[in-house]
Amino acid sequence: MRILLFGPPGVGKGTQADLLSKEYNFTKFSTGDFLRGQISLSSPLGIEVKAYIERGSLVPDDIIMRLVRIFLSENRDGNIIFDGFPRTMNQALMLEKVLGEVDMSVDFAVELHLDEEEIMRRLLSRQHCPHCGKIYNNVTDIQENGGICSTCGHTLMKRIDDDEAIIKRRIKVYEEETKPLVDYYKSKHVYRSIDASGSRDEVFNKISEIINEYTDKK
Ligand SMILES: [Zn+2]
Repeated sequence: MRILLFGPPGVGKGTQADLLSKEYNFTKFSTGDFLRGQISLSSPLGIEVKAYIERGSLVPDDIIMRLVRIFLSENRDGNIIFDGFPRTMNQALMLEKVLGEVDMSVDFAVELHLDEEEIMRRLLSRQHCPHCGKIYNNVTDIQENGGICSTCGHTLMKRIDDDEAIIKRRIKVYEEETKPLVDYYKSKHVYRSIDASGSRDEVFNKISEIINEYTDKK
């Protein structure tokens, strides 16, 4: 089963993808994680990718697709959750092609919804641990821990990219580049929309319903 999770920044895609992979044994594909993995392995692709990142340029789609091919060859059982990927129509079309090569397709494209005000509120209150990378989304969590990482004890910090102007720009990029996926996946009858304004568990339960409905039918 292949699920895509997409939605604007701050909507909790990564968190939900992690919960779902634990609960349902999905393997998560996140472009960023996979790129970092290839770089640390110093694979031929990793070396190529590193050059783009060091120049500060976007990794081109054909390289991303090579990554997806490698990922699929390593995950032949096909239970995959794509976290924040594809980001653009071009990537969606390429993903369909690459999946088609191994007789797979997208079963659900789940969009997580949140209005701009709530995205701002969440992202501006977010902090992260500069040591282990853990992200704290919740103001109460941060206060209860006294601003200290509960995993490794380092002092939490705000992320540079959680600045109001940067967030606004990221939302705009989402609207322009990723939003067209909605019509595309609607036309394939795999689109689902979920209100992400509830708690982490509420959102998780809504996604679970979609998955259970699907597996019940099989
Ligand atoms: Zn930490």
